[in-house]
Amino acid sequence: MEQQIVDRNELDAFLAQTLNIARFRDYCPNGLQVEGRAGIATIVSGVTASQALIEAAIQTGADAILVHHGYFWRGEDARIVGVKQRRIGSLLAHGINLFAYHLPLDMHPELGNNVQLASRLGLQADGRFGEDDLGWLGRAAAGVDTVGALAGVVEAALGRAPQVIGDPAQALGRIGWCTGAAQNLLGDAIAAGATAYLSGEISEPTVHLARETGVAYLACGHHATERYGVQALGEHLAQRFGIAHYFIDIPNPV
Ligand SMILES: [Zn+2]
Repeated sequence: MEQQIVDRNELDAFLAQTLNIARFRDYCPNGLQVEGRAGIATIVSGVTASQALIEAAIQTGADAILVHHGYFWRGEDARIVGVKQRRIGSLLAHGINLFAYHLPLDMHPELGNNVQLASRLGLQADGRFGEDDLGWLGRAAAGVDTVGALAGVVEAALGRAPQVIGDPAQALGRIGWCTGAAQNLLGDAIAAGATAYLSGEISEPTVHLARETGVAYLACGHHATERYGVQALGEHLAQRFGIAHYFIDIPNPV
């Protein structure tokens, strides 16, 4: 197929509609965060708009970067200094557009992080829980009937062993999950009847909550659980507009 060029503003509007960004109260602006050149033929996607991803996008000749973790988070220092100056300076110097989608990308029913992670782990969703229905609820594939078996599925799919708080021999009923930094939804997952809950990160109090409720917690990696939504969205754009898309993984152990 011949390489096409899409207008930046058309792409911005398409993404806003596709991801239904107006529906979400979020901690950052969703959409075009840094304006680059008007015509976009090549997109690079990645989890976070780090300097390493920007350098890779420059090497790739990208006109736009598409990420889950962009800039301008609520409460952050608003000044463009230091790390932020270098990142934004690199984008502007190379005319690269930055598009970022946080909660709308977590939640999209076909392209989102939660549904894409579920398909890689063989989880069948049948419900939601927690504030704004951010948590997903469902069941593991046939034969995956213990916490230990689920941990094995996670390790095989993500290439990374999860940190498991709970008894590997414990039987599984319904399972909750939410990608990224959603360990704080463990209490809501318990209230919703989950027997195990998966998210990205873990901190000290989460261990006690899991132990004292008997609901297993699997910390599967913030980065590792959020690699898939942005890839699916980038592929969707490539097919819709005939532009080139490359996902570039900048590994992150957390
Ligand atoms: Zn995240």
